[in-house]
Amino acid sequence: MVSWGGEPVYLSRIVFSFHKGEIPKGLLVRHTCDIKECVQPTHLILGTTGDNIHDSFRRQGRLIKIPQTAVDSLRSGQLSIADACRLYKIKVKHAYAIRAGWKRIIRWS
Ligand SMILES: [Zn+2]
Repeated sequence: MVSWGGEPVYLSRIVFSFHKGEIPKGLLVRHTCDIKECVQPTHLILGTTGDNIHDSFRRQGRLIKIPQTAVDSLRSGQLSIADACRLYKIKVKHAYAIRAGWKRIIRWS
């Protein structure tokens, strides 16, 4: 963080707005290179907090693919957690996450 007009801001935000324009409210500046301190303009992209969570899961190899039909039947309550796990070979915790509405963390296929 650096001081900018008396306000503490991330240097990456300043670099981004300098090179690419204003940052829309609610969005973050993210790094395609995964280095937090990096301020290479070409590495900076806009994103949401959700994108960041998504990224950290992906990096940890925890992103899983789940068929859309499994997602739909879990959400609608058509299938129980246990049945969905058996039928689609997904983990119980993932089935719960889907039912709870996690979208960003699990990549639908
Ligand atoms: Zn970088």
